[in-house]
Amino acid sequence: MAKAPVLTPRAEDFPRWYQDVINKAELAENGPVRGTMVIRPYGYGLWERMQGDLDARIKAVGVQNAYFPLFIPQSYLTREAEHVEGFAPELAVVTHGGGKELEEPVVVRPTSETIVNEYFSKWVQSYRDLPLLINQWANVVRWELRPRLFLRTTEFLWQEGHTAHATYEDAREFAARIHRDVYADFMENVLAMDVVLGRKTARERFAGAVNTLTLEGMMGDGKALQLGTSHELGQNFARAFNTRYLSRDGEQELVWQTSWGSTTRMVGALVMMHGDDDGLRLPPRLAPVQAVVLAVKGDDAVLAAVRETGDRLAAAGVRVQVDDRTDMPFGRRAVDWELRGVPVRVEIGPRDLEAGTATLARRIPGGKEPVRTDLVAETVPKALEEDQALLLRQARERRTARTVEVRTVEEAAEAAAAGGWARIRWADLGPEGEAALAERAVSVRCLVTEDGAVPDADDAPGNVAYVARAY
Ligand code: AMP
Repeated sequence: MAKAPVLTPRAEDFPRWYQDVINKAELAENGPVRGTMVIRPYGYGLWERMQGDLDARIKAVGVQNAYFPLFIPQSYLTREAEHVEGFAPELAVVTHGGGKELEEPVVVRPTSETIVNEYFSKWVQSYRDLPLLINQWANVVRWELRPRLFLRTTEFLWQEGHTAHATYEDAREFAARIHRDVYADFMENVLAMDVVLGRKTARERFAGAVNTLTLEGMMGDGKALQLGTSHELGQNFARAFNTRYLSRDGEQELVWQTSWGSTTRMVGALVMMHGDDDGLRLPPRLAPVQAVVLAVKGDDAVLAAVRETGDRLAAAGVRVQVDDRTDMPFGRRAVDWELRGVPVRVEIGPRDLEAGTATLARRIPGGKEPVRTDLVAETVPKALEEDQALLLRQARERRTARTVEVRTVEEAAEAAAAGGWARIRWADLGPEGEAALAERAVSVRCLVTEDGAVPDADDAPGNVAYVARAY
């Protein structure tokens, strides 16, 4: 029997398919104010698991959590010239409070470099106070003109790290460490995401940074998405806020800084990188429910077997849920778990019981097979490990298959328009070529060295640009 499609097929209309998944898997809905988002429990559960894992990694490199206010005096933003120029068009500004016009308008934070520096300048006295390594989990507001659920919302949830160091080298190494050892490690090993690590061109750099490191992922339609960024801020904010320390030589010196962020956008990326025409496919290490045990029918023997299997899987360390809602058709429940991307379903009905088996349905490779009941608790953890690796491999294979090497701006624009990435020598593109691409809604996602490492400068010899359309 052919299944009626629940979702718009990806090949027909990818953005529509994305909306369908977000809706049908009950991840989120639009809020009443344009660009805002209500995150539903299943979507929030994904974010919570991301937070938990990332938070531990951030702490493991020595960073402490703190919290800064949502409201920032407007004058703070104007102290760093490039920063205010970059953010001004996206600011939400509060002019009234308690029924009266405020003496100075306050900005709803779009990011917190300014207010953090105001306090860093008080907390940092001498070289002994450095490095100062702070992170906060918060919401921020950027008035986005083209919002899309999770990928680009006017209010989003994120973590933002802010650090101050005694030397340029120390700050630089720390920004690279977050980029590689925290973000890339988390995205590859937990989210099973294939990411390209590189450096942003001057055009794409964070407003106020001297260097922006990025992680770029290829979505299911061949477009790119920036998944996280780590910035070297140089001394720009330190100068604007007079954040100084007394050096070992007894001199007052400006600190060197970094900032870095990752957001609820990662939930959308999970859908777009791993999803298929049946819905989400969750990497097992992230999945809030890794295996669901389904009762096919509501008879007592089946229900008892389902509960026992659930207990055994839980004892084997699997995040498991029992689905004994036998007042709902089995087929509908199975499709629903598929939509939600649960990696493994263990289905048990009267016929399975007779044979002493359960049916193992795998969401990621697809397919069903019988497994002896007494082996389920061994088989499922192995399947989960295989599936984690398979998702990453599939994402890598797609990028390889859809990336071409080109020599000219024209070829790069065509490859991007056709739904893929192009690699072109930066020497063959340059800022003018980049500007020409921008007119065709194509951007340089990042620069890498010939060997695929992160370059030290935009113009380092041999640099290669990744070019694509982006979300
Ligand atoms: P930034 O502070 O501009 O470097 O942004 C940090 C990260 O936030 C970026 O790398 C994006 O992945 C993500 N991001 C930027 N704007 C949005 C948005 N409107 N909604 C969700 N995520 C965003």
